[in-house]
Amino acid sequence: MSLLSKCELNSKIHSLSLDQNKNNTHDALKEKLLDIKYPLFETIKDTLLSPLTRPIKTLAMLAISLSPQTALGLRHFKDKYALKQVTKENIDQAILFPQGCLPDGMQAPTPERLKALIQKVDFFAKKMGIKQKIDIYTSPKICPTGCVGGTYSYNSPFIMFDLKIINASDDELDAVICHELTHIKENHLFKKALFSLAVLAIDILATVFISPFAFFASEAVASLIGRVIDRKMEKDSDYGAMNLLGTGKGIASFFERHAKKAIDMKNAKDFNTFVQKLDPRKVVKLKAKNKLNESWMHKAQMRITPEGNNRRDFAHPAVTTRATYARAFSPDSRKQLALHLCSTAA
Ligand SMILES: [Zn+2]
Repeated sequence: MSLLSKCELNSKIHSLSLDQNKNNTHDALKEKLLDIKYPLFETIKDTLLSPLTRPIKTLAMLAISLSPQTALGLRHFKDKYALKQVTKENIDQAILFPQGCLPDGMQAPTPERLKALIQKVDFFAKKMGIKQKIDIYTSPKICPTGCVGGTYSYNSPFIMFDLKIINASDDELDAVICHELTHIKENHLFKKALFSLAVLAIDILATVFISPFAFFASEAVASLIGRVIDRKMEKDSDYGAMNLLGTGKGIASFFERHAKKAIDMKNAKDFNTFVQKLDPRKVVKLKAKNKLNESWMHKAQMRITPEGNNRRDFAHPAVTTRATYARAFSPDSRKQLALHLCSTAA
């Protein structure tokens, strides 16, 4: 190689690395703007829509926290998620996941796993001191894992499980069950309904005694406070689960897996690689709506932070935050802290 071409090569490498730096700064700036865009947009949306949604939301939340069956009665739950109750009879009759109900690549939970799920929920609910019977629901469709109701409910609170969680490891399944049971034990849904009712009262007072515009100010503040409350309840439920199980292992591995998958999806360069990483049920759903295209992929990728968190989820602490505190959890940490304080005092 001649000296000249070596020089040329060096300058090329130099300009390439400059380009790389420029791209990196550009990407970092884009990510920062997205971090601002999503919460800002959501708060504005909440504030403007709340005059319409607040009264309905408050009533619905009160009704379903006191009577969880109200939620099942709502068409929303029945049609969108096609929930079915997990009972011994339904398991024996293969009603929950009939043959052919799942797309290729999805495995239905075995009858043994479903029976273990019933036993686990019963066992942990008793351990937590919950006296009510907890109903369990699942679906061959994608359904959100969560619970409805609490210990104030006059009929059974219930937990919905997505089949992926039922199929996860015992550590992860136990952690998710105990997290949901903590929501029930602590009556989180009822407390959120009371908060919403209080906001509604303040909205009305502000409108009557200050100005109709004060309504929006009250809603903007409520939207922010509501998110802080949501995140605190989620964190409390994670700790409730970790304290009961004596370990953060299940929660940590659940969220680490989640973050890793999200990063893979964000970094997928071409459409086919991206689609392969999607839940096959999601693929079926998107195809049916004619939405599975590159523009959907870009939007989905923008919603994921470089760390693997969901930018649009304001109701939960970030996935990586949850994985970190779960990894650091030790059942003795409080005891150790108390001992440390005693020894420094002495
Ligand atoms: Zn939760």
